[in-house]
Amino acid sequence: MEIIVQKFGGTSVANLECMQKVKEKVLKPLKEGKKVAIVLSAMAGETNRLIEMAKKWSKYPDPAEMDVLVSTGEQVSIALFTMLLKDAGIKARSLLGYQIPIRTDRDFGRARILDIDEEKLRNYFKNYDVLVVAGFQGCDCENRITTLGRGGSDTSAVALAAALKAKVCEIYTDVDGVYTTDPNICSSARRIDKIAYDEMLEMASMGAKVLQIRSVEFAKKYNVPILVRSTFKDGPGTLVTKEDPNMEAAMVSGIAYDKDQARVTLVDVYDRPGVAANIFEPIAAAGIVVDMIVQNPSRNGSTDMTFTVPRGNVEETVKILEKIKDKLGAKEILTDTNVSKVSVIGVGMRNHAGVAAIAFSALKNENINIMIISTSEIKISCLIEEKYTELAVRTLHEAFGLEKEE
Ligand code: ADP
Ligand code: ASP
Ligand code: MG
Repeated sequence: MEIIVQKFGGTSVANLECMQKVKEKVLKPLKEGKKVAIVLSAMAGETNRLIEMAKKWSKYPDPAEMDVLVSTGEQVSIALFTMLLKDAGIKARSLLGYQIPIRTDRDFGRARILDIDEEKLRNYFKNYDVLVVAGFQGCDCENRITTLGRGGSDTSAVALAAALKAKVCEIYTDVDGVYTTDPNICSSARRIDKIAYDEMLEMASMGAKVLQIRSVEFAKKYNVPILVRSTFKDGPGTLVTKEDPNMEAAMVSGIAYDKDQARVTLVDVYDRPGVAANIFEPIAAAGIVVDMIVQNPSRNGSTDMTFTVPRGNVEETVKILEKIKDKLGAKEILTDTNVSKVSVIGVGMRNHAGVAAIAFSALKNENINIMIISTSEIKISCLIEEKYTELAVRTLHEAFGLEKEE
């Protein structure tokens, strides 16, 4: 019995009309005698609506209750969609995370999947041809509901595909593949046929939200190919898979951007051993992910330390720093939420010199100031003023010749 896994995102299940399209996608493998595990997101906008609602109720919503709340979006979509399948005479049922179960750790709001009960899942297929699984959610060892972080349904789908040893995990969305940059802000973006896990990981980590980072990590670890396709338009899509010699050997394969950034500067901290550890240990202990870090050269024994955190964590970061400010000798804590990060990504960068120079001069030509630079073997990121994000993305896209051929 072949089981295939298909995931449909929020815009694909936004209303009845969209869900009818999804139903058509499911009918095809069924006609070929396959069984289907469908993973659904909440209807478009629903998760945001629930988050906003919680903010009105509580200044610091309890993380566990927050997960009980935001996971309801997926419960609605799987119930509605399963009704459509049943009306069409298909043997289907919906499944919530805890009913499988999809076991996770207890890190509410950003839980990691630890285990999926494969046997129980396969047993459900004895009585049903289609299982409609709620994405984004799991449960901890005490059966408390957890969620997997924004965009987490991608990870649910890949984890199910890994558990069921599916040949591929199909991710259906509102674009017809992974592009050289976000096609919604750069009309000359080009669809990529095949992309390596590592490159996709960098794209996702740098802000390309077409796939959640953890879904790509999971896919790489368990060697599950991901096929990204459109729900609304037929086409080959993009295959995310192991690096192979036939892949495009471009120096740069894509440009990503991330507006969920904030800059924090500690002015005039002591320049002595242990200061960096004193700053970043409590931030890490609070589960805040620090991204770019720069320390200025020392002036008379003191220095400025600048770093970035997700925008939603600025207040908490400042609260932590206020407590240790005096011990660090810091004169001031400055924050700036008007920033974004643009990144140039490509495995081909490993063997090419001058990529950074091309990127910097492209930004210079548009008079865009770079506040922080960070690099890895296969990416260069620049922190810039947020209002220049789209311009920077288009400029870099052009500078590296990524446009589609006319
Ligand atoms: P879903 O709700 O289906 O999970 P998302 O909104 O999470 O969809 O992801 C799809 C969106 O990702 C696209 O609409 C597009 O704007 C954005 N995106 C960002 N970077 C890229 C990229 N490089 N290729 C394709 N889409 C991208
Ligand atoms: N509904 C969740 C979100 O909006 C998960 C997902 O769509 O993948 O983040
Ligand atoms: Mg998504």
